[in-house]
Amino acid sequence: MPVDPTSYRPDPRYLDLGVEGFADPVAPADFPERVLRFRNQRWAERVGLGALSPGEWLEHFARFAPLPHNLPEPLALRYHGHQFQAYNPQIGDGRGFLYAQLREPAVGGGPGRLLDLGTKGSGRTPHSRDGDGRLTLKGAVREILATEMLEALGVPTSKTFSVIETGEKLQRHDEPSPTRSAVLVRLSWSHIRFGTFQRHAFEKRTDRIGALVEHCLATYYPEVDVGDDAPLALFRALRPRMAELGARWMAAGFVHGVLNTDNMCVTGESFDYGPWRFLPRFDPTFTAAYFDQGGLYAYGRQIQTLGWNLARLAEALHPASPSAPWQETLEAFQGEAERALARAFLGRFGLEEADPETNASTTGAIFGFLTARRELPFQQLFHDWYGGELSAARAAESPYAALYEGRDYQAFRDALAKHTPKASVAATLASLPFQRARPVDVLIGEVEELWSRIDEVDDWSPLEWKVEDIRRLGAALRQPSGHTWPSSHVVDS
Ligand code: AMP
Ligand code: MG
Repeated sequence: MPVDPTSYRPDPRYLDLGVEGFADPVAPADFPERVLRFRNQRWAERVGLGALSPGEWLEHFARFAPLPHNLPEPLALRYHGHQFQAYNPQIGDGRGFLYAQLREPAVGGGPGRLLDLGTKGSGRTPHSRDGDGRLTLKGAVREILATEMLEALGVPTSKTFSVIETGEKLQRHDEPSPTRSAVLVRLSWSHIRFGTFQRHAFEKRTDRIGALVEHCLATYYPEVDVGDDAPLALFRALRPRMAELGARWMAAGFVHGVLNTDNMCVTGESFDYGPWRFLPRFDPTFTAAYFDQGGLYAYGRQIQTLGWNLARLAEALHPASPSAPWQETLEAFQGEAERALARAFLGRFGLEEADPETNASTTGAIFGFLTARRELPFQQLFHDWYGGELSAARAAESPYAALYEGRDYQAFRDALAKHTPKASVAATLASLPFQRARPVDVLIGEVEELWSRIDEVDDWSPLEWKVEDIRRLGAALRQPSGHTWPSSHVVDS
């Protein structure tokens, strides 16, 4: 089998936990059809699977024949979680499983991150309850778009690795039905969730919490000095990553939509995309999910929600370390998130950070301007103003030039002028996505149009062009000192 022996590095570490208690071996569904719709060749090459033939790809990512030296059978992972703040002990991998684990090429001499290939829509499991274990093709297309755009904007996210249409007709409340089916494979930096810890706390299995903590520290935080309190060390290492994640969602204008604790990953990577949206315009109350009528997971509440979720994780870890200063440790999150927010927004303008006070006041000026100019499409602001000193010329050419006037605008400009443009800005501005009047964006209207082309005439080319366009934006922004995840947690390919 043509895996690349130098870059395919199987490492099924989940087995170290002992499957008992942590997962259930399952069989994939036997689908009536298998038609490849999306193959993430960039990431396939990176993990040594780029040379698979089309037939082999289907064999592995629709039939789930084991990969060499990897998990012998799929594992539906066990977890619980708070869903819209209510604890649900009946969930778990109900339509997905862990299929394989492999290492990314090493960055800076380390072993390389351990990545999971996990599924969505691969069939029923012991956790399916009344669900059919399936994913709609539209859901898969939406996940492609969310992951590609987030990756381009430098948000640490799972990657959509493969989408295969499976020829079933599904009934759904939130899509015209019957609707087409698919199986999606995602490449992500762990599938261990806050809800995984919560499940073992619920079952009063402190031994399993301890084992899981050790596993996560060794596997996902090898750089951390554990000291004498492993649960606390894990929490302290994860907390700034969650702050960074929330800040980057905000700066990307992204609304995840379902910030339940079973959708929070122990590495701080964003994953599991259902009713997500990108902001059309700046609006803290903007809500993605139609079923989130109270606006619990609205754009402007996401950081606060990550803090709430961290508190639930601390509760789950508490039995494994009852005397640790959990409250104090949690309180540090807010300050971390504010600093991360300044960094993330400055990054989107291509600007260097200054001292903390200046950074904080710049964030204030940015939010002030965004609030005063709510008519402005959210992505347009960064598109027009990318690069500090260069911005005046670009703003004059913008279709929204008239909005860049007046006192709020002046305060905003003055604030940005206190920061040095990153060295890479000129190269970015010269790149193709920045030569247009309109930014690359992934708003709901376009998502629906892309889906209609697929659904009505099976035309996949607009989606393919869109992905190419998003990737060009990502390449343009990924100049040296651009939007990279710090140190070893690089998300770029
Ligand atoms: P999600 O909203 O996708 O994060 O899913 C929440 C929970 O519901 C998870 O335990 C899923 O496995 C489960 N679930 C969602 N959709 C289905 C389905 N169609 N069949 C079985 N389980 C599902
Ligand atoms: Mg989920």
